[in-house]
Amino acid sequence: MLNDLLLNFALLVAGAFAISLTYRQASLRDSWARLAVRYATTVTVALLLLFNSVQIGPGLLFDFRTVLVALAARRYGLLAGVLVALPIALYRLARGGPTAWVGVLNLVLVALLAAHRSGWLRLTPQPSGFSLHQRWWVPVGIFGCANLTTFLAFQVTQQPLIDALAVYLTFGGLSALGLVVAHLVIRSRLQSLTRVERLESLAYLDALTGSFNRRRFDDDYPQIHQPAFLLLLDLDLFKRINDTYGHELGDQVLIQTVQVLRDHLRPLDGIYRLGGEEFAVVLTPCDPDSVAEVANRLRVQVEQQVAERAGLWGETITVSGGWVKVEGEKRGVLRQADERLYLAKSTGRNRMVGDQVRERVKV
Ligand code: GH3
Ligand code: MG
Ligand code: MG
Repeated sequence: MLNDLLLNFALLVAGAFAISLTYRQASLRDSWARLAVRYATTVTVALLLLFNSVQIGPGLLFDFRTVLVALAARRYGLLAGVLVALPIALYRLARGGPTAWVGVLNLVLVALLAAHRSGWLRLTPQPSGFSLHQRWWVPVGIFGCANLTTFLAFQVTQQPLIDALAVYLTFGGLSALGLVVAHLVIRSRLQSLTRVERLESLAYLDALTGSFNRRRFDDDYPQIHQPAFLLLLDLDLFKRINDTYGHELGDQVLIQTVQVLRDHLRPLDGIYRLGGEEFAVVLTPCDPDSVAEVANRLRVQVEQQVAERAGLWGETITVSGGWVKVEGEKRGVLRQADERLYLAKSTGRNRMVGDQVRERVKV
């Protein structure tokens, strides 16, 4: 029996690891496809556990199937717990025996108890960092209550209730231990995903404006979907703003510029701060006929909104830009955009220069 128990436990740990691999991000939001894969994996592991259950008495089976119901209910709530419990319950009923319905009752109780939202073991990333408070009484509480069905099973099979106590304590304790271990396996995966996400945001986001930074631009460039256009923007005479109003208000102008760009672009368009007061906007996918229109819309919005939003009433902030089709090597594309930006600057600023270099677009 000990070997069978060990096998069941090893299956649980391996299963928890397999489930942990279905997580690609730490947050609760996930695609339906990924949720479906996670559900299928969870049910498969639960059925495998039930398939390899340990006979602990006449008509009495033990395995760690309920741990998976508890895990699903802790993270996603009662409906998820019930959905995981359903195929297991059907399989348990199909296997028959006088205590099959007691097993089903046990599953339902575990789903109900585990779905109750209390601190520990929720498998959700904590805003305060990585430490999830471990409270041993939560899993003990879940199985301590749900496994009272053991006494019912002994009653049904007309075995002495005094023996039920030993079974209740031993296997309730084992289930709680199984839940802690499975939780730790999945939590370690979620923690490393949280760390990766945090490091990525540190590496890829501009600390002042929250836009993407140059490193992210370099990494994104090869994967830009065609047709795409690169718009290089540079605030006009920004040094004067800094000199007149101070660096702090200058920073506000940069922050508000990104905000205005964001408000007038689609979520798929990337905004990158390449340095100082220079930004790259990648318009993707973008129809060639509308680039000039988009570029000028951004120019007009910056002119109309940025100064006021930054608290500089009576002041006007303008931007110049050069746009090119994203085609071929990054260096060449950036150089060409920079030449057009230079042309916009040298011909009066507050303008966008595009494909027909000679035709300066100003609306
Ligand atoms: P032009 O129209 O030719 O682009 O003139 P400009 O004054 O905008 O260009 P210039 O390159 O002379 O000045 C850029 C200024 O941007 C100088 C620098 O102090 C300022 N700057 C760069 N990074 C930051 C920043 O993070 N915060 C603030 N407040 N200012 C910055
Ligand atoms: Mg400038
Ligand atoms: Mg500049």
